[in-house]
Amino acid sequence: MRQPLVAGNWKLNGSREFTRQLIEDITVGVSAGGGSRPLQAGVVVCPPYVYLGDAYAVIDGHDGIGLGAQNLSDHESGAFTGEISAEMLSDVGCRYVIVGHSERRALYGETSALVASKIKAAHSAGLVAILCVGETLEDRESGTTEKVVGEQLDAVINSLGIGSFAETIIAYEPVWAIGTGKTATPAEAQKVHEFIRGRLAADDESIALSTRILYGGSVKPDNAGELFSKADIDGGLIGGASLKAGDFLEICRAAG
Ligand code: PEP
Repeated sequence: MRQPLVAGNWKLNGSREFTRQLIEDITVGVSAGGGSRPLQAGVVVCPPYVYLGDAYAVIDGHDGIGLGAQNLSDHESGAFTGEISAEMLSDVGCRYVIVGHSERRALYGETSALVASKIKAAHSAGLVAILCVGETLEDRESGTTEKVVGEQLDAVINSLGIGSFAETIIAYEPVWAIGTGKTATPAEAQKVHEFIRGRLAADDESIALSTRILYGGSVKPDNAGELFSKADIDGGLIGGASLKAGDFLEICRAAG
């Protein structure tokens, strides 16, 4: 049985005060649960690097809410100006890290090989990687969605082995749905999630059954329930809607 998970990617947004307030509101909401019952879904928040310590000070000791970073270096230490290592993230309270977000791939030239080495670095510090995969609109329109997503997965499987998915969560995020207000229909998303699970199962059935596959791309309170009801969608990676505590909490409740 896979526990649903909802992760908020705050991207380059907010201030110290904004972070404190948002994390407090989310923590209170998570503690209050889903109305008459505790929240079933795990919750992760990923603020900008510089506010991770402030966020951790609020969530420390609260069950059901974890801290994540939006990126990391694939190096352990040394002359890499401006970079942050997996150990440093772990040191300030992170348990998760997003790797290979489409914005990193498109705007900062991250290749699938670099993504795999970042996952390796994350695992070596005990962090759970949230691996983002997804096709562009051009890929989708030319019918190559599965080829593109398959290659993104294979880069990790071939380099780190299928066993690396024991500590990896996958986020399927069609690039054309991120921040655009366009969402894949639940059926479209489920089709790709099923493909992803099938790709893992080809190498290891039990890893495939236990790996959580999140959907990301303009998830909002009004579409979350239907998306999360699909068999292979185990929660969401949320951008814009994670910056409003009320919306984010509603999405968390929709996940279980
Ligand atoms: C994201 O950036 O991971 C994302 C899913 O963004 P949004 O929810 O704003 O589409």
